Amino acid sequence: MNLLKKTIRDYDLNNKKVIIRCDFNVPIKDGIIQDDTRIRASLKTIEFALDNNASVILLSHLGKIKEENDKEKNSLYPVSVRLSELLNRKVIFSKETRGIDLEKLAYDLKPGQILLIENTRYEDIPNKLESNCDLNLSKYWASIGNVFINDAYGTIHRKHASNAGISKYLPSGIGFLIEEEVNKIDGILSEKTNPFIVIMGGSKVSDKIKVIENLITKCDKLLIGGGMAYTFLMALGYNIGSSLKEEDYLDYCKELLTKYKEKIILPVDSLVSNSIDSKEYVIKDINNIQDDDIALDIGPKTIKLFTSNLKDTKRVIINGPMGMFEKSIYENGTKEIYNYLANNNIKTLVGGGDSVAAVNKLSNPSKFYHISTGGGATLKYLEGNPLPGLENISDK
Ligand code: ADP
Ligand code: MG
Repeated sequence: MNLLKKTIRDYDLNNKKVIIRCDFNVPIKDGIIQDDTRIRASLKTIEFALDNNASVILLSHLGKIKEENDKEKNSLYPVSVRLSELLNRKVIFSKETRGIDLEKLAYDLKPGQILLIENTRYEDIPNKLESNCDLNLSKYWASIGNVFINDAYGTIHRKHASNAGISKYLPSGIGFLIEEEVNKIDGILSEKTNPFIVIMGGSKVSDKIKVIENLITKCDKLLIGGGMAYTFLMALGYNIGSSLKEEDYLDYCKELLTKYKEKIILPVDSLVSNSIDSKEYVIKDINNIQDDDIALDIGPKTIKLFTSNLKDTKRVIINGPMGMFEKSIYENGTKEIYNYLANNNIKTLVGGGDSVAAVNKLSNPSKFYHISTGGGATLKYLEGNPLPGLENISDK
């Protein structure tokens, strides 16, 4: 369904004022951008509009604005400077998110010029107009342009004035970033090649329930590692010691394990320690875990079990690391599983903020079909529900 949305290529941009909603939510410390990946990722869409003789008006949020004090440290001004360097063009910056000065800057903007408007979440004080998708604010922003392009994939799961709102009031489409994410995710989900295996890990069952519920109906096997595996093992009656657990979800895990008995595969051994800060661990079979053991990575038998299930598989979606990979002594399970996927040319989609960090740190990202940049947005996508940021985009 998402593939039927208009894209930036479907519009004649010549002499038009094109509003592009970007994701410039970059880490900034003391006014200095720590990582400009997201700014770089927006260039293709912005350059396309400039090459097609549009005037470009950019909107983005940055951080959260809950009180007046949050404004200065979350100003998009440093982004305007970096963007200007990357595009090798002047970027005009509007300190206002609304008002006569902004209107004049937008009105005077010529084809080939770029205007970046201050953090849309400045409008969250006092009445959360941006985050609650206030329609008057949406209409106001829409009024300064002719076409709206949403390219902020990271906020596609949010219904804000600067994405879902504006697209109600202007001819609208998606930019290259969103198009790629949507095509890749829809693509791997709708393909009919099997076996299709889903690998879930990370910390909590509660974060991933809806993703599990959606994907388990579609996949042939679900391999569960990471911290969330231990709530499932506990539901089967194992002593999981002091490992991560969510007792409120035991019944849910039990139900799932009964209903999908043949599909779900759980760890059979783990690296355990008495403290997460200890420099040492012991490998234990799951039925041998003691009260003060904390399971922090999957063990060698589990790696074998998981990779043997991955043999001959055609498609994989993986979300969540297999262990506490931030600590190098617990990175091996995650590394082995990702490397197996990479080295065997298995068509793999990686989603989730920590999973992306893990694949970049431990494996070879170029060997993967798609590494989704969305974090929370991708998880929402994998839950299978309509995405608010796309709902009002014009259909093809
Ligand atoms: P993603 O961001 O990819 O969706 P999550 O946020 O769900 O992944 O989970 C990532 C976190 O899970 C990491 O910080 C990692 O340390 C933690 N984790 C993985 N395995 C375990 C474990 N066995 N015990 C505790 N934490 C774990
Ligand atoms: Mg995470």
